[in-house]
Amino acid sequence: MFTKKLIEHFNTLETPFYYYDTELLEKTLTAIKKSSPKEYHIHYALKANAHPTLLNYIKEAGFGADCVSGNEVKRAIECGFDNKKIVFAGVGKSDKEINYALDHSIFCFNVESLHELQILNQLSKNKNVTANIALRINPNVDAYTHKYITTGLEENKFGINPYEFDQVLLELKNLEHLNLIGLHFHIGSQIQDMTAFKNLCLRVNEINTWFIQKGITPEHLNVGGGLGVNYIEPDKEAIVDFESYFNIFKEFLEVKPKQEIHFELGRCIIAQCGSLISKVLYIKNGINTNFAILDAGMTELIRPALYQAYHKIENISAKSGSTTNKYDVVGPICESSDCFGKAVVLPETERGDLFAIRSAGAYGEVMSNHYNLRDAVKSIFDKEV
Ligand SMILES: *Cc1c(COP(=O)(O)O)cnc(C)c1O
Repeated sequence: MFTKKLIEHFNTLETPFYYYDTELLEKTLTAIKKSSPKEYHIHYALKANAHPTLLNYIKEAGFGADCVSGNEVKRAIECGFDNKKIVFAGVGKSDKEINYALDHSIFCFNVESLHELQILNQLSKNKNVTANIALRINPNVDAYTHKYITTGLEENKFGINPYEFDQVLLELKNLEHLNLIGLHFHIGSQIQDMTAFKNLCLRVNEINTWFIQKGITPEHLNVGGGLGVNYIEPDKEAIVDFESYFNIFKEFLEVKPKQEIHFELGRCIIAQCGSLISKVLYIKNGINTNFAILDAGMTELIRPALYQAYHKIENISAKSGSTTNKYDVVGPICESSDCFGKAVVLPETERGDLFAIRSAGAYGEVMSNHYNLRDAVKSIFDKEV
C-alpha cells in the first residue's frame, strides 16, 4: 500500500496526518454497487467519516446519507447529497435539528420513541409540512418472541419496543403530519459473523408480517449497517466481501411486492481507506518493555483508548529484513490509556521512523479532538501525491 515514492513524500510532511486512499474507496463503492441488487438503496453513515472530499466520492457513486445529527444532515446537504436520499436517526434529536431537516425535506426520519413521534408531528404541523417517518425498532430478539420479557429492554435507549407497537399505531392515527413509510433496524457495529444478519432478517420478517396483518405494508425496510472489517490483516481484505453480505439479505429477507430495502453502511465503506501516519519521537527502553513514543495519540485516534480497539501498526520506514523487537506503541497525551498497542513486534525502530496505524478511516479523524490543546489533525489524499 505504501510505495517508496509515497513514503518519501510522507517524509516531507508534518506529522501526524491521516492518509486516505481514494482509489480504494472508489473500488469499494464499485464493489458494493456490483454486489447489491438495483432495488437496494445504500446510505453512507456519515458518522464514520464526514470529510467532504471523501463524501464527494460517495455521493458521486449515487449513495444516500445516513445522519445522526443535524450537523450531519447539514454536511450531507452541503456536499450535494440528494435530500431525498437522506435519513436521520438518533434518540435525541433536538428541535433545531428536526426543524433543519424538515426545512430540507429529507427522505425520512427514523423515529426512536413515542414521545419523539408527538414532537416531530408538532414541529411538522408548525411548518405545515408532513414528515416521512420510519419506526426505529429495538431489534432485541427476546423482545419480539417473548413479549412479556421486559428485563433488559428498558435499558436499551435505541428504538421502539415491539410491545409498544399497538400504542404507536393508535397514536399515529392522530398524528396527521407524519407519514409512516417504513421500519428501521440497526443491530450494532463491527459485525463479522453473518449469522447476526441472518437473525436480523428473520426478525425483520416477523415484524414486517405483524404490520402487514394490521393492514400496514411498510414501503421501506431499512436494515441499518454494522458490517465489520478485517482490522487484523487489512491488506488481505481491503474490500469487504459484500457479495456474502448482500446474499444473506437476498436469501433470508422476505420482501413483499413494492417494498424497498435500505442499508446504512459506515465502517465497511471507509475504514480500510485511511491510515494515521505518525513519526516516532522517542524510544524509551524499559526493563520489560520498550516504548516507541509517537507524535500521534488518542487525540488523533481514540478507538484503542476508548474501547481497546485493535489497529495494525506498521513501521513503514524500516528496511525489510531488519531485526525485530517488541514495543509498546504510545502517544504523547497525558493519559495511560494513550496506547495504540502493547508488545507489538516491529522492526528495530528509531527516532524519525514513520508509523502507519492502519484501518483508521472509520471513527478515526471524525472522533479526533483537541485535548491537551492539540492541533487539529490534518489529512491528505492519494491523488495529491
Ligand atoms: C452507526 C450507525 C450506522 C453505521 O454503522 P457501521 O457499523 O459504521 O456500519 C448505521 N445506522 C445507524 C442508525 C447508526 O447509528
